[in-house]
Amino acid sequence: MENNNDLERYWELFDCLGLKRIINVAGTTTSLGSSVCSSKVRSAADNAMQHFASIHELQAIASDRIAQLAGSEAGCLTASASAGITLAVAGCITGLDPARAENLPQRPGEKCEVAIQLGHMCGYGAPVSQAIELAGATVVPVGQATQAADYQLKAALGPATAAAVYVISHHAVHYGQIPLKRFCEMCAKAGVPVIADAASEYDLRGFQAAGADLVICSGHKYLGGPTAGIIAGRMDLVKAAYLQNLGIGRGMKIGKESIAGTIAAIDQWLERPHEAIRRKERETLEAWSAALEGIDGVTARIVPDPTGNPIERLQVDIDAAQLGLTAAAAARILSEQDPAIMVRSHEVDLGYFQLDPCNLIPGQDALVAAAVSGLLREPRQSEQPSSEEHSARNAGARGYLEWLNQKS
Ligand SMILES: *Cc1c(COP(=O)(O)O)cnc(C)c1O
Repeated sequence: MENNNDLERYWELFDCLGLKRIINVAGTTTSLGSSVCSSKVRSAADNAMQHFASIHELQAIASDRIAQLAGSEAGCLTASASAGITLAVAGCITGLDPARAENLPQRPGEKCEVAIQLGHMCGYGAPVSQAIELAGATVVPVGQATQAADYQLKAALGPATAAAVYVISHHAVHYGQIPLKRFCEMCAKAGVPVIADAASEYDLRGFQAAGADLVICSGHKYLGGPTAGIIAGRMDLVKAAYLQNLGIGRGMKIGKESIAGTIAAIDQWLERPHEAIRRKERETLEAWSAALEGIDGVTARIVPDPTGNPIERLQVDIDAAQLGLTAAAAARILSEQDPAIMVRSHEVDLGYFQLDPCNLIPGQDALVAAAVSGLLREPRQSEQPSSEEHSARNAGARGYLEWLNQKS
């Protein structure tokens, strides 16, 4: 992000397209464009857009870099992590048989079941089960929403099982699930490869150490690359996933500019001063916390990431009765300001929103502090929307239905 440190220039970029200005304190959110790229990543993509390249050769170079990043035998890139899940499942179904790859999704053959704990069948903007089914697979849910037991997983694995999917996410049910290591041990015993969806995770090595055969990650989240999906893991399965590009993977293809940009993003990630960034983010969180002190009905505290990523956020708990404003309404009002302050709001139903510092452009931290404390110190009760209107659950679909209505 070193080239974006001119806040004025950042705002000008919005003006080019007549876009509403945004400060992203939500995290690496797809609906906001996930992340911003460094000059190194941007120029790698820019270079690639100016020459031809053998895509297989580029992907082979990416494989080496992914291997370094994830400690895996091999890797390949696709359009997104969601595409990565689909192609990984498809590869587990077809192996290295191109004829079988061309038969997907309609004729996957007998061995096409994919086991997944019911508590992992979440949505990340789209249902994870659908990403699996796009490959022609049949989803076999394991357990109930909040509990999965060994015997239930064991019963789900059989001769028709092509793979098992394990989701690491704040969206997944976070209790009552089988731990990854035991999940992988049981699957290995049954000869079933495990695909770990770690789209939003920092450390891909841990999942393989726990026994995952393939790990899926987004290139555009913490890595700060262009939009891309990373498939890392066992050589034979990576090759089988890559083979899908002659079939269902075609509609999920990644271009040379994104491959080159992701390679640069991985290189930069491997030498990023993670500790120094953490310290800077901690300072920001403490400054925000101080700015929200002494407001009746508002409690701010620094919380760790729920899936163990080495990042922290400021959680702003709101006692709606005392403050006269719900967390959901506060999030909506902040999102309607100029610049829009987009907070992390997927849990507003529980009475809080969070501020995530990972995507801040230098200079924006003070703007966020002023906007949030300004609103919470003088909540405007008349602006409370109805509960239906501000439900985070409905917001996603409404955006997709109404996107053109906003333009008059
Ligand atoms: C973001 C996310 C995805 C989807 O990633 P894309 O690269 O945007 O397709 C899938 N799974 C999880 C757990 C995620 O957090």
